[in-house]
Amino acid sequence: MAKTNSIIIIGSGVIGAFTAYYLQKKGYTVTLLEKDRFGCGASRGNCGLIVPGHILPLNSPGNLIKGLAWMFKKDAPLLIKPRVDPDLFNWLIRFALNCRSKNIMTSAIGRAALLKGAIGLYRAFIAEESLKFDWEILGALHAFCSFDELENYQSVDDFTAQFNIRGNLLKRDDALNMEPALGNNIAGAWFYQQSAQLRPEALMGELRQLLAQKGVEIIEQTKATGFRTKSGRVVAVITDKGELQAGQFVVATGAWTTQLCNALGFRLPIQPGKGYSVTMQRPSDGPSMPCFFEEAKVVATPWANGLRLGGTMEFAGYDAHLTRYRLDALFAAAKRYLHRKAFHEIEEEWCGWRPMTPDGLPIIDRSSRLKNVIIAAGHNMEGISMAPGTGKLVSEMVSGEPPHIDPSPYGIARFHNF
Ligand SMILES: Cc1cc2nc3c(=O)[nH]c(=O)nc-3n(C[C@H](O)[C@H](O)[C@H](O)COP(=O)(O)OP(=O)(O)OC[C@H]3O[C@@H](n4cnc5c(N)ncnc54)[C@H](O)[C@@H]3O)c2cc1C
Repeated sequence: MAKTNSIIIIGSGVIGAFTAYYLQKKGYTVTLLEKDRFGCGASRGNCGLIVPGHILPLNSPGNLIKGLAWMFKKDAPLLIKPRVDPDLFNWLIRFALNCRSKNIMTSAIGRAALLKGAIGLYRAFIAEESLKFDWEILGALHAFCSFDELENYQSVDDFTAQFNIRGNLLKRDDALNMEPALGNNIAGAWFYQQSAQLRPEALMGELRQLLAQKGVEIIEQTKATGFRTKSGRVVAVITDKGELQAGQFVVATGAWTTQLCNALGFRLPIQPGKGYSVTMQRPSDGPSMPCFFEEAKVVATPWANGLRLGGTMEFAGYDAHLTRYRLDALFAAAKRYLHRKAFHEIEEEWCGWRPMTPDGLPIIDRSSRLKNVIIAAGHNMEGISMAPGTGKLVSEMVSGEPPHIDPSPYGIARFHNF
């Protein structure tokens, strides 16, 4: 029988990696199992922003209406490919039900707990491990081309103010002074000081090396396909290369979690929300700080040696194609907000699947049916930001220590079918 202090984490994205980090710190024997290469999922080509102000979930009656209106527009920021898919239909119904103000507040409270702690946890992690992944705290500009939308954003700022996060409204000239890479179409911007950035592929590279040094076993190119259970517990994970035994199991498989949980006999509403990014050398006249192009739902993140444009949300199942008009839409959006010298030639085009839950909250909970299984998945558009808090919380659930944040918003029971 496997020792109780041995843990297998399935999935080596940022969530699995930070969970491994905090568990090995507590003395557990950790194995990370990955179907592909370490950190090659959504955690690789994303925009690397830690934005504590992103407390509001996507759920809102306004977004619902926009989403429906955009449904047949190929280059819209949100695209739902019309198809017969009962899981997607069920997810959309749940999304709509979570657009009520009571649900939005519940989601915001849970999101705020993870997001507001993120910068502090990253700082402590960097100080302790002396790692380099282009970490900076420069704040972020939320730029608008429309005066109406700029003013309407006041309601978002009023909402986040309830959580002690306030931005500064900048008129056009003040926004251009602060960020000269912005172009003439700008109506103004909101500046949020409490935003940080990192280069995700560098973070994942550093995490891999650190975990290996600390004795975490990393098994790549091995896919978990099912579980062997006995008396209400999982005794082994079945993979395409044989069985692996452990005392406890963590499922951190991002957008693939629904597939794997089907093997455990329960369904979780996580849909793959495809996003795209393009990366180039950093232009000398490019943005000096992260800029959100709000109407277009595109963001630009500058690093010492690069600039990445990222965005778009496509509900198209597990379709891994890089679609040209979606990539072009990123560029077209950025050109509306930045002046024309702010670009270089593209070096990499990428897409990844965000693990989207219908209420904007991740699932971080122990299974009630299989006592030695914890799910840590569904981090939506904020997995890089929420990863340290999630990893720490899972390690506290495993060790039985008091949790550093209230875990109740992330419970599986809210989906009533577990
Ligand atoms: C364009 C874009 C921009 C983004 N920008 C930001 C941002 O600025 N800030 C932010 O906080 N978040 C951002 N995100 C969201 C963030 O990338 C995700 O929330 C986060 O990466 C999810 O991490 P994860 O570990 O859950 O999933 P993943 O990184 O996808 O990892 C899951 C891993 O599990 C593995 N796996 C799956 N099934 C199995 C199996 N059966 N057996 C073994 N292994 C398996 C996969 O191969 C994968 O490596 C962005 C996402 C996109 C697409």
